[in-house]
Amino acid sequence: MPGSGNTTNPKLVFVGEGPGRNEDLVGKPFVGRGGKLLDELLESASLKREEVYITNIVKCRPPKNRKPKPDEVEICTSHYLEKQLDLLQPKLVCTLGATALQYFTGETEMGSAHGKLFRTRSGMPLLATYHPAAVFRNRKLKKSLQEDLQKIPGFLERGS
Ligand code: URA
Repeated sequence: MPGSGNTTNPKLVFVGEGPGRNEDLVGKPFVGRGGKLLDELLESASLKREEVYITNIVKCRPPKNRKPKPDEVEICTSHYLEKQLDLLQPKLVCTLGATALQYFTGETEMGSAHGKLFRTRSGMPLLATYHPAAVFRNRKLKKSLQEDLQKIPGFLERGS
């Protein structure tokens, strides 16, 4: 599942971890309840799914829904994600969750990294935030995720 959304000069690209079972079946990222939450929070940040591009670190779900292994991450990103970003040239990349943030920056502490700006491996501005699924494990994170996403229009306006 390569991703979906605006492929004509999107200003913003979201990067999650990898498709779940439903995303693999439907061929679209974030179609489950995490996707519903993401849509709700995008709306509260005046962003529309059709305006942005949404993709993942790995393009198919590893067996038994496990996290992708480091070699899978490196192989898949070098074949797909890095090339997608090269073509799309967004003004901002927003990572959803620790797997994406760690790939680009090496950062693992989401508690301190979320809401902050970093750079992708190729130097694009990157905003770190939580994975929508994290909110279902800890409802308190919804506010942080919402506030982080609400920073995006300002970043885009200022050119980060
Ligand atoms: N989780 C992700 O990280 N990406 C998806 O596309 C769906 C669920």
